Amino acid sequence: MYDRLRRELSYVEGLLEGSSTGNSPDAKALLRLIGVVDELVEAGQKLDVRQTELEEYAEAIDEDLNDLELLVYDDENEEEDDSYLITCPECGEDVAVDLEDLDDDEIELLCPNCHTTLSIEDASDVEEIADLDD
Ligand SMILES: [Zn+2]
Repeated sequence: MYDRLRRELSYVEGLLEGSSTGNSPDAKALLRLIGVVDELVEAGQKLDVRQTELEEYAEAIDEDLNDLELLVYDDENEEEDDSYLITCPECGEDVAVDLEDLDDDEIELLCPNCHTTLSIEDASDVEEIADLDD
């Protein structure tokens, strides 16, 4: 777009130079106007570049925020809905366990503190106790 505007301006400039009006006040005024329009085109192009940069920056922030939201809300969901606390029989550490992991016999649960294998039965105990409390 800006290239086209510049070509247009050069064309008008060329017309002025080729005309017989020479150094008349009209020609001077027109040349002055061309200078002003030229500056406007320049300023517009700079704004355009800056605008594009800002859009890309805002997009990057938006993506990061999205990742952050996923992280934060996932954690909340796990704590509130889908996880159980198993107390490690060896060191007493409370370990949050995903409900889906409990249903899967293939998954071996390890205490992150002392690396003792936590049995599913420990988890069901916690679940039963929690049910009784209700
Ligand atoms: Zn432990």
